[in-house]
Amino acid sequence: MILLPAKQIETLKNVLDTGNAIILKIVDIMMMFAPYGVVFALIVTLIAEAPSIDMFKALAMYAVTVVLGLLVLVYGVYTMFVYFFGKMNPVKFFKAILPAQLLGFSTSSSAATLPATMECAEENLHIRKDVLSFVLPIGATINMDGTCLYQGVAAIFIAQVMGYDLTTAQQLSVIATATLASIGAAAVPGAGILMLVIGLESIGVNPAGIALIFAVDRPLDMLRTATDVSGDSMVALLMNRFSTAKANPPQIGDK
Ligand code: ASP
Repeated sequence: MILLPAKQIETLKNVLDTGNAIILKIVDIMMMFAPYGVVFALIVTLIAEAPSIDMFKALAMYAVTVVLGLLVLVYGVYTMFVYFFGKMNPVKFFKAILPAQLLGFSTSSSAATLPATMECAEENLHIRKDVLSFVLPIGATINMDGTCLYQGVAAIFIAQVMGYDLTTAQQLSVIATATLASIGAAAVPGAGILMLVIGLESIGVNPAGIALIFAVDRPLDMLRTATDVSGDSMVALLMNRFSTAKANPPQIGDK
């Protein structure tokens, strides 16, 4: 086509351009439904593979506990931080980071979501570039509050199912190891469940127990990644406010 005169190939070029536009539109529509599709496909697998009704009920309770915990963390704790320390309307904050949350939800990876998180922080939250380019990459790597919360719940659930009666010291050890393991977890899908082995070993529970929660892990991974991404954005907002206030301290005579 390159070798022929432009006029001669114009019609074919238009056909190809239109075909390309149609395919891009189809991909757009598919990406809109992808999160729902992934969740439903996983739930169907879970129902088909659940070993027994009782185990299925226990898994459902475990999943509901993690989801409630994440909701309280994002819409309770983060909301307060955004309002009191970030001095921003939490509704506006959550609207601003929604694209990053959705991408985190569908990719299950804070690292893959990083460009979207940075874009939301810069364009919607108006965070300074030097702040966001420092805080967000570090946050995506080590700040995983959702993963930490999930690991705590998962370790206790596995211990209970396997018949271990945890002492208070062991429960405190779960908190400490979940915090450290979430810092060490890679920002990729399924990293949280692998790091759970450390938590289970620290309290003497057989790490093979993670097999119990494999079936429901992917939807929970999607939700905890959206939480991790929200946490990073919240910290960036706070850092932006504190560092801006420090850089421009109020002067005598300022109103
Ligand atoms: N997928 C999570 C993230 O990238 C890590 C995990 O909990 O598995 O933030």
